Amino acid sequence: MFSKELLAIKKEVLESSKMQFAYIEEIAERNTLKVLDAMRECRVSDAHFNTTSGYAYDDIGRTKLEDLYAKVFGAERALVRTQFVSGTHALATVLFGILRPGDALVSLTGKPYDTMQTVIGYEHPSKGSLKEFGVSYNELPMVNGKVDIAGIQRVVTKRTKVAAIQRSRGYSMRSPLSIDAIRAITEEVHRVNPKCICFIDNCYGEFVDVAEPTQAGADIMAGSLIKNPGGGIAPTGGYIAGRADLVELASYRLTAPGMGDELGASLANNRLLFQGFFLAPHIVAQAIKGAIFAAGVFSRLGYKTRPLPNEVRGDIIQAIELGSAEKLIAFCSGIQHYSPVDSFAAPEPWDMPGYTDQIIMAAGTFVQGASIELSADGPLRAPYNVYLQGGLTFEHAVLGVMGAAEAVKGNVCV
Ligand SMILES: *Cc1c(COP(=O)(O)O)cnc(C)c1O
Repeated sequence: MFSKELLAIKKEVLESSKMQFAYIEEIAERNTLKVLDAMRECRVSDAHFNTTSGYAYDDIGRTKLEDLYAKVFGAERALVRTQFVSGTHALATVLFGILRPGDALVSLTGKPYDTMQTVIGYEHPSKGSLKEFGVSYNELPMVNGKVDIAGIQRVVTKRTKVAAIQRSRGYSMRSPLSIDAIRAITEEVHRVNPKCICFIDNCYGEFVDVAEPTQAGADIMAGSLIKNPGGGIAPTGGYIAGRADLVELASYRLTAPGMGDELGASLANNRLLFQGFFLAPHIVAQAIKGAIFAAGVFSRLGYKTRPLPNEVRGDIIQAIELGSAEKLIAFCSGIQHYSPVDSFAAPEPWDMPGYTDQIIMAAGTFVQGASIELSADGPLRAPYNVYLQGGLTFEHAVLGVMGAAEAVKGNVCV
């Protein structure tokens, strides 16, 4: 049961969010139309839903799915595979596929997401990292949470092969990038060095706006299927989309030189990937409405939230500064308590592979670790921000946020 005080806040927040909800629903409808149009043009039918085995040459389902992704994302070509074990794997496949010893990589959004630091060999050349392979790395710090457009010409040189741009906030309070911001960044990069490849980490960004980075000047992008584009239904996987020559290079890293995208069995039921992609615009809207609700509730309770309740969104993440480890743990236990799976479990901080600080995660999800499902996580470091995302239904997001608010208020683990 929720307290009277909290129920009053809920009512107020639902009332004051109506205009934003209508705006989010409009985007979902436009993106649903975009997906439907592409499905018609691609002539998707149930013959494409079969699983295949072995080498899986001429897998019509796999090829159709990749055509569909490419069409919806306005890209020349796409790789959509359950063989990608995560978003990081898809992102790393792009970098290792394109970069060669002696090449230079620059991040234009400051410090990259935790797992990408390990891929790059950020602080020390981690085993198998880009740095170990002789790729140099540099970064342009963000200024007041925004990309320093004027500074791009200082870090992008004639030698810069790839400019990495992270759309979502990651574990930080910086702002996510809007599609307009991505367009301005890619224009400036290409003005300074027309050959520099703009590579977008699009995790958590798909279907948040009516265009994707590949429709705003990006050369290539990648993301996870257990986030936005899998629609909560894809069981695992990742995607890469962009210029045909670059996706081809990435495909040689995914499989082997010469093989590329022509092999790879559709082990999972392909229907799940098609249906998930069809549902994704709607599911993303559910998640964003949940995030807006969370921002409304927690800002009324006196916490700093990013984005603010009424800010335009560039990803599905809601960051809330909780201020103490106890509150971070309590928040996660509240979300866990209102999860459909493992609701009896108590989340605890742990040393996750690829991360530098301990991480706590609330994830009572049908697909393990799927953060398009309602989930919350954060590194155990000051100022103890929690990052809330997902929600397959808005109703679930509301209940989870209420549970988290109650737990944080009492500072107790439910
Ligand atoms: C989730 C995420 C990734 C990839 O994480 P995985 O857990 O490997 O899928 C990369 N970058 C950002 C910004 C992310 O949010």
